[in-house]
Amino acid sequence: CAKRNGKDQCVIYHEEMESYAYNYIDKIQQIRYGIENQEFRVYYQPIIDAEKTILSGVEALVRWYHPYDGPISPGQFIPEAEQSGQIVQIEKWVVEEVFQQCQKWTEKEEMPTYVSINLSAKGLIEKNINQFLENLLSKYPIDPGSIEFEITETALLDQIDQTLKTLHDLKKQGFRLALDDFGTGYSSLNYLNRLPIDRIKLDKCFINTVEEQEKDRMMVEAIIQLSHKMGLKVVAEGVETESQQKALKNLKCDFMQGYYYGKPQPFNNWETYLTQWSFCLQSVLNGH
Ligand code: C2E
Ligand code: MG
Ligand code: MG
Ligand code: MG
Repeated sequence: CAKRNGKDQCVIYHEEMESYAYNYIDKIQQIRYGIENQEFRVYYQPIIDAEKTILSGVEALVRWYHPYDGPISPGQFIPEAEQSGQIVQIEKWVVEEVFQQCQKWTEKEEMPTYVSINLSAKGLIEKNINQFLENLLSKYPIDPGSIEFEITETALLDQIDQTLKTLHDLKKQGFRLALDDFGTGYSSLNYLNRLPIDRIKLDKCFINTVEEQEKDRMMVEAIIQLSHKMGLKVVAEGVETESQQKALKNLKCDFMQGYYYGKPQPFNNWETYLTQWSFCLQSVLNGH
């Protein structure tokens, strides 16, 4: 019986493995078609200047318009795309799309203060990434100071030397850098003075409880104060309620992002955006 069980388990194990492998291969195949057929789109989410309550910037977030499965969120394909390396192609597409959009905004004098773009670990160790961006800057003449790249701590885990070099080169090129999902990694504080960053993005997990739990509030306050002492600005991610927004403002958080202000959406024109993001007391169009 034991043997039989063992055998059964063995069969189940194999089936799971096969279906995992099949799913993975199927997914990366689909992603490949997705890239070839240009099925990706960029959504933008507002980032608010906490003090003035006006739009400061936007974060570019990719969506996959799969022909059958509709808009798919990044959580459902970025992990596979990172594993397969396809993330590099997707990111390069996102960056070009964003630069092109920024050029249009610049020409119409509608450019927000900054647009942030996520870069993965694979993207950062891509050898010609700085050259790639330099070429794009010649193609779309925009101010690199209005582009911010968001990186995560996990991106720093492998090939730290190469990654650090890329980050310093990005700074030399005039881009800004932010440390994303701050506080979720292993040694977040350690990175604050080691990386050439301009901002940190406080992860949503801190924001969830900031107005309810005294200890969490104290921690957020300490992180904000420390960041300010080091010359860094702080963005709160995942702000969903008015009371969170108030608590963060009291703690002197510099920027806010979250559903309370607006969900990520495709860009048509600022009028539509600013109507939906009705919190904006002044619009980018009325001078920032
Ligand atoms: P992230 O960079 O930390 O982006 C913030 C995520 O939080 C976004 O999810 C956004 O929609 C979501 N979010 C914003 N406000 C709220 C809120 O108030 N409540 C809740 N519950 N969620 C909120 P999204 O768009 O699904 O993206 C997930 C992650 O996928 C991003 O996390 C980022 O790490 C990655 N990602 C997205 N676009 C790209 C890209 O172009 N390249 C790379 N490498 N990664 C990307
Ligand atoms: Mg991000
Ligand atoms: Mg984040
Ligand atoms: Mg996050």
